[in-house]
Amino acid sequence: MPGIRLSDDVKAVAPDVVAIRRDVHQHPEAGFKETRTADLIERRLAAIRVDAKRIAGTGILATIKGAKPGPTMLVRADIDGLPVTELNEVPYRSQVPGMMHACGHDGHVATALGAATVLAGRRDKLAGTIKFMFQPAEEGPGGAMPMIEAGILDKPKVDAAFAMHMWNDLAVGKIGARPGPVFASADEFTIKITGKGGHGAAPHQVIDPIVAAAHITLALQTIVSRKPHPLKSAVVTVGQIHGGVRHNIISDTATLNGTCRALEKPVRSMIQKEIRAIAKGVASGLGAWADVEWRDGYPPTVNDPEMTELVRAAAAQVVGEGNVVEQDITMGAEDMSYVLERTPGCYWLLGSANAKKGLDYPHHSARFDFDEESLPIGVQVWTKIAERFLKP
Ligand SMILES: [Zn+2]
Ligand SMILES: [Zn+2]
Repeated sequence: MPGIRLSDDVKAVAPDVVAIRRDVHQHPEAGFKETRTADLIERRLAAIRVDAKRIAGTGILATIKGAKPGPTMLVRADIDGLPVTELNEVPYRSQVPGMMHACGHDGHVATALGAATVLAGRRDKLAGTIKFMFQPAEEGPGGAMPMIEAGILDKPKVDAAFAMHMWNDLAVGKIGARPGPVFASADEFTIKITGKGGHGAAPHQVIDPIVAAAHITLALQTIVSRKPHPLKSAVVTVGQIHGGVRHNIISDTATLNGTCRALEKPVRSMIQKEIRAIAKGVASGLGAWADVEWRDGYPPTVNDPEMTELVRAAAAQVVGEGNVVEQDITMGAEDMSYVLERTPGCYWLLGSANAKKGLDYPHHSARFDFDEESLPIGVQVWTKIAERFLKP
């Protein structure tokens, strides 16, 4: 691509990186079932004589030690696919019915392996250690925490952690990196409303949980519109309403189920408190009873300003300063957040869309695909980050 600066060793691995991506793409696997993918990663690492061991099921920790002593950095690549049936007509289309790499994690595996290959060949020039975290189950139930519990951040202690996502909201040739929060927390709530069932023609004899569910759903909308400071971000989405069995029966119960997103801890706990208060208050005003269950999901993903500056400088060497952008924050969530809660680091985005080639469908779409020209750029940025962080 014009304007992109790739070193000879990155150019040399580029065809293989594309081949790995296509291989992984054809064989997507669900969270903690990524055995073929893990085998492939291990085989590739063995071929370049990089130490690797399996941890937390299908996770892999690989280590490259530089020739000189120095700090330790972590490169994280998530490896799981999604339960989506691929609609792309491409030679490397998914061969697994109902499964697809619809988020681009196939690209994460390929670029991390490409970076491992290049960096293993440059051990002499590195002062310190690079740990690669090939992580299962990012799309759920979450593989980062089990890998942390298995000790990936210790021995040697990780001083800085980095993760990359292929990004179809950015054109190929652009890199996104911004300090502070980049992804939101994602928590789940379930509200069980109990009324008193009866005949659909006799509302005077019942307490209608469906009417209560409707009122609670509307009242929940005021959490985002009325509670946080107007410049703070929050999302409350009711994704499911269940209740009733027949048109002329008023049921005993109804259930709401939804997701909440926030970028900051105080907003996150405020949402939880408000959901409980509104559900219970509105239900009680209507004579019903609401029981609220809350499940903490991934916390917000927050970038360290200094490490973000390092990534931006590294990216500028590859794509030019003008193509390094502060992308929009998204209210999606990421379990790399658990790593970044424990060690400073940066989650950066690799522009991968190409509208001219029709490669700009959103992540998780059955037509998601990305421009493979982005892959060597990703490899090159990884090597530049390592060069800067492990400078002798
Ligand atoms: Zn995803
Ligand atoms: Zn993803």
